[in-house]
Amino acid sequence: MVAEKPSPKRIDPAFKNLVLKEEGGDHLLRCYACGTCSGGCPVAELEATFRPHEIIRMSIFGFKDELLSSNVIWLCSFCYNCYERCPRDVKPAMVIRALRNIAARQGYVPNGIKMIAESVYKIGRVTEITDFENEARADLGLPAVEPVDIEKMKKVLKKAGLEKVLPKEE
Ligand code: SF4
Ligand code: SF4
Repeated sequence: MVAEKPSPKRIDPAFKNLVLKEEGGDHLLRCYACGTCSGGCPVAELEATFRPHEIIRMSIFGFKDELLSSNVIWLCSFCYNCYERCPRDVKPAMVIRALRNIAARQGYVPNGIKMIAESVYKIGRVTEITDFENEARADLGLPAVEPVDIEKMKKVLKKAGLEKVLPKEE
């Protein structure tokens, strides 16, 4: 994942403190770099740039900008293999979630995630549910999908730190 030697400017030694304070990041410093998390990660098997143990190392060493601006932290599928297998209870998946929260608050969100957040912000869902979908559900004996409380969804998105990437209120 780290192809070139990092310039000292890109290192922020205090970054680990930010991660440690974030929910889910509090076990960060327990990591002893055994690589078990990456060895059992299904995303790492498919995507060469994704290695959870590297993400943990980079967090500890202070690769703040590189991590927060990277799409890599958004690739985790939260299968929790690493969470179960880590011998040091670092909870790598939770550290990655903490990094995403920090990144979102600083405005670093990939376009795909941004589009999903915008859709949830506007209509309360990732995709619109119309009469067509509800009729199809009725044919299968399923109840119609309940309307969403959009204002509540907006509050959730803002609380999740996505405010910077959401459309401005008119
Ligand atoms: S499995 Fe745990 S201790 Fe081992 S590298 Fe991953 S986070 Fe660190
Ligand atoms: S939770 Fe994420 S990092 Fe951990 S094993 Fe699953 S995909 Fe990999």
